[in-house]
Amino acid sequence: MIAGLVGTGRFEKQMILSKRAIHHAFENNTDKHNTPVHEFVHLLDKLDGETDGIPERLLEHKYIIPWTKLMHDEMESINNNESDIRKYGGTNQGEFFAVVSEYFFERPDLFEKKHPELYQMLVRCFQQKP
Ligand SMILES: [Zn+2]
Repeated sequence: MIAGLVGTGRFEKQMILSKRAIHHAFENNTDKHNTPVHEFVHLLDKLDGETDGIPERLLEHKYIIPWTKLMHDEMESINNNESDIRKYGGTNQGEFFAVVSEYFFERPDLFEKKHPELYQMLVRCFQQKP
């Protein structure tokens, strides 16, 4: 099942979600998984032209390099099965950003405890503490 995706071509900048994914996202608040958040983050990521996990429009310039480094370190942990972040986050930078954002909004306390530096970066990025 395709739970959701960001459109291309004629559907550029549009988000398509299945009803089931939306219901699931807002029913279950402990699984670190939220398809609407995931797809929305891909849209935000793409504001600067690239879905590359580097939200240049959201993050102050001085944080771009530290963010990229944190991202690469954690992706390596995910791919070595040493992280509690969903495996899909190890796929590429764009998916990493979307997957950690799901975790950030779904389980903020746990995320802050386990990944304090990533948590601070996402607070800066989204300008809020969930
Ligand atoms: Zn994705």
